[in-house]
Amino acid sequence: MPLYRDDAVVLRVHKLGEADRIVTLLTRRHGQVRAVGKGVRRTTSRFGARLEPGSHIDVQFHTGRSLDIVVQTESLGAYGARVAGDYARWTAAAAICETAERLTDEGEPALRLYLLVVGALRTLAEGSRDPGLVLDAFLIRAMSVAGWEPALTRCAKCGAEGPHAAFHIAAGGAVCAACRPPGASHPSSETIRLMVALLSADWAVAEASAPDARREASGLIAAHLQWNLERALRSLPLVDRAVGESASSDRTDDGRPAADRTASAHLDPRRAAAS
Ligand SMILES: [Zn+2]
Repeated sequence: MPLYRDDAVVLRVHKLGEADRIVTLLTRRHGQVRAVGKGVRRTTSRFGARLEPGSHIDVQFHTGRSLDIVVQTESLGAYGARVAGDYARWTAAAAICETAERLTDEGEPALRLYLLVVGALRTLAEGSRDPGLVLDAFLIRAMSVAGWEPALTRCAKCGAEGPHAAFHIAAGGAVCAACRPPGASHPSSETIRLMVALLSADWAVAEASAPDARREASGLIAAHLQWNLERALRSLPLVDRAVGESASSDRTDDGRPAADRTASAHLDPRRAAAS
């Protein structure tokens, strides 16, 4: 029986029949894995509680024909369960898991992203840092790993040393006065300083930031991520339309809304063209 073992974070859980679940995990060595957890929804299940979003586990799989099967788990940290009672921390954890799922592919190792996810969830569980800052630090560093790091100190177009007052998502971040496209925004210098601190995990600077700068940085980081995710989708070869159909009728049983997935499906130009 072909077995393999890995460390993993549970990103998402789907119901399958009466008692089983399909679990999406980000593993340390095998990238994203979708596997079946048999009987995990029964109260007598030995490992059901460990197959919840945000759980960090040591897991053994049996290689299946289509989906692998979870045969054994040991908890390394029940991060999801530890933040479940706190709305801000839970929504941050859910956003981290969802972004990690969208940035990884099945069977393609993504060690740096895996380490970022584990670190961010552990920090949320410890509760020592502001959940919004933990999320934004994760998102901006995850984008850096994905090759989408926003330009902050140099001009995104010509590379001129800043600081630059203008910021333009499609241009790639900060832009100098000469390169500034129409429609550029003008974030405060404190916002840019905060984003630099989040990217380099400089928590002293990040935690000293004002609420306005945090709000503005969050907006820019979310917009930058969304723009790059959309662009990545568009650059994929034509995918079977059925993929989009099933994604927009997604039902998760882990308490997370599928709204974001649905919204991005609607923004997908392939869907717009087909409907
Ligand atoms: Zn420039």
